[in-house]
This record gives sequence, C-alpha cells and structure tokens, in this order.
Amino acid sequence: MTTVRTSVVVPCFNESEVIGAFHEALVAALEPTGATFEICYVDDGSDDRTRAHLKDLAAADRRVRYTSFSRNFGKEAAMLAGLRMAQGDVVVLMDADLQHPPDLIPRMLELHRHGYDQVVARRDRTGEGMVRTSLSQAYYRLVRRFMEVEVVDGAGDFRLLSRRAVAAVLSLPEANRFSKGLFSWIGFDTVSFTYTNVRRAAGRSKWGGRRLLNYGIDGLLSFNSRPLRLAIHTGLWLLLSALAYAAWIVGNAVVSGVDTPGYATLITAIVGIGGIQLVTLGVIGEYVGRIYHEAKRRPHYVIRETDETATAQPDPSVRGAAWSK
Ligand code: UDP
Ligand code: MG
Repeated sequence: MTTVRTSVVVPCFNESEVIGAFHEALVAALEPTGATFEICYVDDGSDDRTRAHLKDLAAADRRVRYTSFSRNFGKEAAMLAGLRMAQGDVVVLMDADLQHPPDLIPRMLELHRHGYDQVVARRDRTGEGMVRTSLSQAYYRLVRRFMEVEVVDGAGDFRLLSRRAVAAVLSLPEANRFSKGLFSWIGFDTVSFTYTNVRRAAGRSKWGGRRLLNYGIDGLLSFNSRPLRLAIHTGLWLLLSALAYAAWIVGNAVVSGVDTPGYATLITAIVGIGGIQLVTLGVIGEYVGRIYHEAKRRPHYVIRETDETATAQPDPSVRGAAWSK
C-alpha cells in the first residue's frame, strides 16, 4: 500500500492512567494501514509516572520516541515540541486520553491521499454539559466576528498535517501560540469530518473554567488588533455624545436661563467614562504584555530528556538517596 511515513504526535500531561491503553489502541489502528509510522510522545512535565511509562514504551518499541519537559509548559508548547520532533511526511496530532479515537486515523490518511494538506476531525458536543456547550457556542460566534482567521466550533487539535503544513506552522515564531488560529492562518486545502464526542477514558481534564477563559482571551487577542480599534471607536462616540450634551446644556442655558441640576448625570458620566478607560487600559495592557513576552524571545519549553538522551533519573520515591551514599 502506501509508503507515506506517518508521525503521530501526542502531548501528555499526567496521563499515566490511560497512556498504556492509548498506546495499544493507537498501534492497533496504525498497523493495519501498512504505513510505516513513528509515535512522538511529549511529556509536558507530568508529576505522575507518565515519563517512566513513555520511557518503557520507547525501550520496548523502536517506533516510539519521546521528549520530556523540565516542567509543565502547556499543551501548545508540547504540540510544538512534537511537531519539531516528527520526521514523517504526514503528522497526526492527537490527545492521549482516547478522546480522539485512533481508529479515525486511517480515514484521515485516506483523505490526505486525496490531496488535502490538513484533515480535521471535528467532534460534536455529545455528552457535554449544557452550560459549557452554550458558552462555547457564544464564544465561537464572538470569535468569528472578531478574528481575522476562521476558527470552527468543535475543530480542536485532532488533525493531520502534511509535511509542508507542518513546515508552515513551524515557521511561525510567536511565543504566544494559539494553535487553532495558527492552523487556520497557514491555509492550504483543508477538509473536515465530524465524529461523536467521546468521554475521557481515565484521569482528569486539565481544563478548568478559569483556564478555559484564559485560553479564550488568548485566542481573541492573539489574532487581531480589533479590540484596540473597538476601544478607539467607543472613545470617539463617547466624546461626540459628550460634546453634543455640552452643546445642549449651553443652548438650554442661553434660551431658558441657567438650569443645570444634575449631579446624577455627572456621576454617571464619570463612572461610565472611568469604566471605559479602565477597560481600554486593560486591553492596551494585554497587548503591551504580549509584546514584552514576545520581546524576551525565550524558548517555548525546556527539555529534560528525550529517547536519545535518556539517562538514569533519580527515582522520586527514594528521596535523598543520592546524598545518603
Ligand atoms: N495536555 C498537555 N499539557 C497540559 C494540559 C494538557 O500536554 O498542560 C495534554 C493532555 O495530556 C491531553 C491533551 O493535552 O493529551 C488534552 O488535555 P485534556 O484532555 O485535559 O483537555 P480536554 O480534552 O479536556 O480539552
Ligand atoms: Mg481530553
């Protein structure tokens, strides 16, 4: 059949409960395709036994490679490391918790053979809480209005990228990586299909409400400068209405004598304008913060070890052992 070399990139953070099952399912899905493949695990600084598991997998199977971070750098950094590691002509990105069913990979490879550079598996929202679904939908509506790139509801990071698409993603240097936006920004022929959402097989989701909110803000801000524009527009309209109001007061005073009660309007105006100024400052601050962050040009992550450099690591269960000798 095909000889396309496939790399599967899997970011893992505290996934020791599920990683074994995931690996079996993945290999079972990949072997029948007849494609040569490699699996690139990235351990995102897990503090459970994930790293040890990956090490064992890599020792047992030459098709398995891994990189381990010195601490938790976040999924975006882990995906970046995985993309850098991957050597295949085709790269599939997926989660370790079996929420991205490995048996969809053959279908993705098939679509890639039809010439698509990006194949996206979109999940529907089966089994998700009402509140979360409606919040996400509202968010995507907002994003569609504001963002210069298109981000599709349910299209997560489960996708296949061709070699040139990977090269394009890797050529984007920004420190603040919002993959959903980056994938859309690079373009190329993209196709997507929908699958039924699956619950996480074991372990816990790392995305609490606060983390999701921050992720949402990142997404909105990292792809456009429209919030700044919006602040300017609001400011202009306020200025105009204030001028009109002032003209009205002056006119009133001239026509019908002095009559300007209204500390209420005054307070309202002060508080209103103060609020808008604060929001605007916040928006500007966010952008300045991002510039500061980018300007430092720090690496996206620090590597503790890879399958090539792996050495004996201190076993956390025998604390202080190194000193007791
Ligand atoms: N993940 C990661 N670093 C993190 C958080 C998550 O590498 O800081 C990985 C995690 O191991 C999993 C994937 O990203 O493979 C998706 O995470 P999770 O299942 O917690 O997210 P959800 O499916 O709830 O969106
Ligand atoms: Mg998950």
